[in-house]
Amino acid sequence: MQDFIDEERITSLLQEATEPDPQKIRDILAKSRSKERLEPEETAALLQVEEADLLAEMYQLAGEVKNSVYGKRIVFFAPLYVGNRCINNCIYCGFRRTNEAVQRKTLSLGELETEVRTLINQGQKRLILVFGEHPAYDADFICQCIEKVYSTKDGRGEIRRVNINAAPMEVAEYRQLHETGIGTFQIFQETYDRKTYAAVHPAGDKKSDFQWRLYGLDRAMEAGIDDVGIGALFGLYDWKFEVMGLLYHAIHLEERYGVGPHTISVPRIEPAINTPFASVRENRKYHVSDEEFKRVVAVIRLSVPYTGLILTAREPATVRRELIPLGVTQIDAGSRIGIGGYQKSAGGYLPEKEQFQLGDVRSLDEVIAEICELGYIPSFCTAGYRCGRTGEDFMALARPGLVRKFCMPNAILTFKEYLLDYAAEKTRAAGEEAIKKTLAEMGKDDPLRKKMVDEKLREIEGGKRDVYV
Ligand code: SAM
Ligand code: SF4
Repeated sequence: MQDFIDEERITSLLQEATEPDPQKIRDILAKSRSKERLEPEETAALLQVEEADLLAEMYQLAGEVKNSVYGKRIVFFAPLYVGNRCINNCIYCGFRRTNEAVQRKTLSLGELETEVRTLINQGQKRLILVFGEHPAYDADFICQCIEKVYSTKDGRGEIRRVNINAAPMEVAEYRQLHETGIGTFQIFQETYDRKTYAAVHPAGDKKSDFQWRLYGLDRAMEAGIDDVGIGALFGLYDWKFEVMGLLYHAIHLEERYGVGPHTISVPRIEPAINTPFASVRENRKYHVSDEEFKRVVAVIRLSVPYTGLILTAREPATVRRELIPLGVTQIDAGSRIGIGGYQKSAGGYLPEKEQFQLGDVRSLDEVIAEICELGYIPSFCTAGYRCGRTGEDFMALARPGLVRKFCMPNAILTFKEYLLDYAAEKTRAAGEEAIKKTLAEMGKDDPLRKKMVDEKLREIEGGKRDVYV
């Protein structure tokens, strides 16, 4: 069966685009500035830019495009690993079936509740539940987990959006999840290059079926889940090829469903326990350097201006600080990825139950303070999905840059809740200052919106919660 990844075409587009003419690049950048999604030829040209001045222009514009679509806000979430049993043997992953150094563990619903309470009490509002691939993690089990998360309340806190990262499913199973009420369903293709895919996913494993995975999110769409997240695991194959693969995936979803991916994730391979492929850099021909990684993020942002772009705590703080201004929209913080890691007192570090090692283990509060310093408003907004601003409705707002009109007020309102209920004193002071500054800017631009936000902020100060537009 012919699919939407034409390897020869991608390779020839990249070849044809070497040493691009600077004027041509500037014309392409003008298209990004107008928030239009780029065509493959154009993305290939951006991927081939080597000249320092042009790269600097691209980085600058990537940040501006993100701000003009979403505003100067960064959405926060936390990953919650539910179980690490797995039937597959992906060579890069600590959870692979034959890895005897990993202790297998699946949270009971009671243990899940304890984890959720810890996260609620840190101020989290959005979770992504993560699962290995195993018959025990079927749609019924995942639905029970989702229901448990939504029904857990603590003080004024609650989780308002649950996303899922799990193995691809059948349409009927996705439908079950959709009815239980999920936000985004994420599947990372890992690599869009078939040969590499076959080399890292042993034949006979369920995961070795490239096309089952490639069309995994089509089935989710058919089941009514219109927020889907794509991603590639950077370091398996040529990063330029993977960015092209992500773009073709986005175009395929747009063409078939009228809705592109809600998010694109850019995980880079991290060391994992007893996993030489991931842990020894020399084992990987396609390691992506920090400089190359900046280009990955900026080119994705410029190519698909409407999409959310997720940069996880796999990356160390230094890299996150540099990459966030290049168009990232969502990050996790305070993350612990060992199964049961949140309630452990020893910093939650459970190497024998982790899929890989995290690069940024700072607390949520520390990262929040830094995000304010960088000039952004941290956001815990979950309003989009609860107000039905998903799928085509979201695209209709995102394409002309109108989501910003919702994102910024909701970022301020949810951040205010965080500052009042969970922030350390120093962070609260920095946060209040950031809100004041942002409101002053909003006042110049859109006084009516500022007035509405001021009124809602007073409601929050008066004790009301979950206030949004
Ligand atoms: N088990 C499901 C599957 O493979 O579809 C769910 C995904 S897995 C728990 C989450 C993601 O982690 C994978 O899709 C992969 O991209 C990423 N991952 C695996 N090993 C990694 C490593 N060593 N470093 C960084 N990310 C890794
Ligand atoms: Fe299992 Fe997913 Fe890890 Fe592969 S990436 S071994 S499927 S948990």
